[in-house]
Amino acid sequence: MTRLPLRDDLRGRTPYGAPQIDVPIRLNTNENSYDVPDEVADAVLDAIREEVRHLNRYPDREFGALREDLAVYLGHDLAAEQVWAGNGSNEVLQHLLQAFGGPGRTALGFTPAYSMHPVIARCTGTAWIDGRRGSGTDERDPFDLTPELAAAQVREHDPDVVFLCSPNNPTGTALGLDVVTAVYRACRGMVVVDEAYAEFAREGTANALTLLSGRERLVVTRTMSKAFALAGARVGYLAADPGVCDALRLVRLPYHLSSLTQAAARAALWYADVLLSTVQVIKIQRDRIVAELPDLGLHPVPSDANFVLFGGLDDAAATWRGLLSRGVLVRDVGLPGYLRVTAGTLEETDGFLDALADTLLDPPGAALSEPAAEEPGPESDAEAGR
Ligand SMILES: *Cc1c(COP(=O)(O)O)cnc(C)c1O
Repeated sequence: MTRLPLRDDLRGRTPYGAPQIDVPIRLNTNENSYDVPDEVADAVLDAIREEVRHLNRYPDREFGALREDLAVYLGHDLAAEQVWAGNGSNEVLQHLLQAFGGPGRTALGFTPAYSMHPVIARCTGTAWIDGRRGSGTDERDPFDLTPELAAAQVREHDPDVVFLCSPNNPTGTALGLDVVTAVYRACRGMVVVDEAYAEFAREGTANALTLLSGRERLVVTRTMSKAFALAGARVGYLAADPGVCDALRLVRLPYHLSSLTQAAARAALWYADVLLSTVQVIKIQRDRIVAELPDLGLHPVPSDANFVLFGGLDDAAATWRGLLSRGVLVRDVGLPGYLRVTAGTLEETDGFLDALADTLLDPPGAALSEPAAEEPGPESDAEAGR
């Protein structure tokens, strides 16, 4: 690769790479642990079977029916013209940066947050500004973000795009809407609230859809990858002013959403209540992890998502290896002393908690670290510099 005429700004970069390792308990990428139920799988297959006959034709470029269905799912009186979709919300974020970022422009996020925000920014030629979290006022959440701390950084850097992530990955906590409104007021650029985990938020947590009316620079992104248990289908979407969606038509590739994807997503949305029935049981396991980790001397961050970030580890990398050697894969997000675990089924959570207790009692020694260290390798978040 080094001999190729690669773009200068891509030289020396590491690709995104959460390890994909085949172990019994995979809790490292915040997927939904539950398979798609049979009745939904049948509906998706029926919808796809119908489309297959027409694969000789390009799909509906404006994916009108899907936009309609997504608007109905979101509620808040949203219209289809206010909804946009892509192959995962990562593609939707890329569309936003292609349209509103780009060379000579900047994007600001508040670190630690979703590791793909800076990656997508840089790939679109948008300069990334690492904002900071942690006002020092919240004992339980060392990564909190107050309206004052966020708005001050926006005023200082005057970015073209601001990313807020709520509930925040990897820390888990949702932002107050006062943070969103303060950032919006302080900013002349686009404000993107990444709500990939909105469906998992604790009772009483507000979402930014309620703020869209009258704010044409505000965007709320969502995904079917987490609560809807459809990560493999690659469907993400956003809600915003109709003008934002129009602007994104300038940068998307023609026919970017295949007719199979559109059909599968629509069929899944018709069964939203069935698919989302796992959210409640996952939240119970999430809350159980938060409640039980202090017994192991660890410090979980309060979570509105389907994962928990926990601190208090002497050596996070060693604990990660110890868990892996016991068949449990979690995420080392590169924060010293912390690991992140996805809340899965009851059995997976049992397995994780047992393996963690064992690992803390019997940490992997130097002998173990050699072979296991190959696993995350240069693709781990820690090595990628985050
Ligand atoms: C998982 C995740 C996404 C989802 O990405 P998709 O491309 O929709 O699968 C987006 N944002 C955050 C913060 C995430 O954690």
